[in-house]
Amino acid sequence: MALLIIDDLVDIVLMDVAIPGSDGVEVARHGNIGNLKNVPVIMVTGNAEVSQIEKALEQANLACMTCSADKVELVARVQSALKLKQEIENSKVREKQLEDRNEQLLKLSSVDGLTGIANRRYFNEVLEREWRRSKREGQPLSVALADIDFFKNYNDTYGHLSGDDCIRKVAESIRNSLKRPGDMVARYGGEEFVVILPATDYCGSVQVGETIRLAIESLQLEHESSPIQQVLTVSVGVATVTPGNHAQMINPEQLLAIADQALYKAKHLGRNRVYHEGCNSVSVIKQTS
Ligand code: GH3
Ligand code: MG
Ligand code: MG
Repeated sequence: MALLIIDDLVDIVLMDVAIPGSDGVEVARHGNIGNLKNVPVIMVTGNAEVSQIEKALEQANLACMTCSADKVELVARVQSALKLKQEIENSKVREKQLEDRNEQLLKLSSVDGLTGIANRRYFNEVLEREWRRSKREGQPLSVALADIDFFKNYNDTYGHLSGDDCIRKVAESIRNSLKRPGDMVARYGGEEFVVILPATDYCGSVQVGETIRLAIESLQLEHESSPIQQVLTVSVGVATVTPGNHAQMINPEQLLAIADQALYKAKHLGRNRVYHEGCNSVSVIKQTS
């Protein structure tokens, strides 16, 4: 039976232990008073029954006093209960502020300031994690490096601020090109991005690389000083490994180095293309024009 409905505006409850037909302590203990957990309760007893008082004192938020107590004692009890309540509330607020600040710091330390996508530090963490997972599960793991073509020319033509804007658009576009929840893009540095593709084999990774390449080309961002075509493009280098496979004894840094070699070849072959270099074999080039 709910005896009282209390909202957040109530600071303290003074109640009689002897509620007709009910046990005051039980009522308090079972939360029949709304929000009781956060509200101090002073139980007032008439004929102080020792067992009742003991029961009441077992409750963290309950205090007991007899009706015969004087006014000064009542006021003192109420004041100290309210003070305690206020201190508890203040410390909860401080705790929440600290949690929020920690969360914010964690976010800042893993996010790239210009683009809002993951930074390289966070990327390294995720790559290590995905590497271990792939090894456990015997799954392939791919990485792709995407680098904007002739970006120095772009800056020289349109200015550094337009260049920054362009990097943001490319980051967003790559992010939108990734469909699986485990896929992730990070800013690798300058005008270079890295993508992690867990449980993705050679064919899948080439496909994602091509999706990215096409997405950037489709942005149709004017790049009049590009020697290949007058819109902004990227070249993509892809590499795949199955970390648990002993025939491919490489580490995450080596996988990235292989992707970097593939990127270099994509550039060398004319840019705006995807090049995949397997751990042992050179493979398909996806060419556009
Ligand atoms: P390539 O096709 O071989 O990749 O040629 P590129 O001109 O893109 O490569 P290069 O390494 O010569 O130049 C990269 C340029 O990217 C130079 C640098 O000023 C620019 N860049 C790097 N980081 C930023 C950035 O945060 N903002 C802007 N606006 N430009 C950047
Ligand atoms: Mg470049
Ligand atoms: Mg570069």
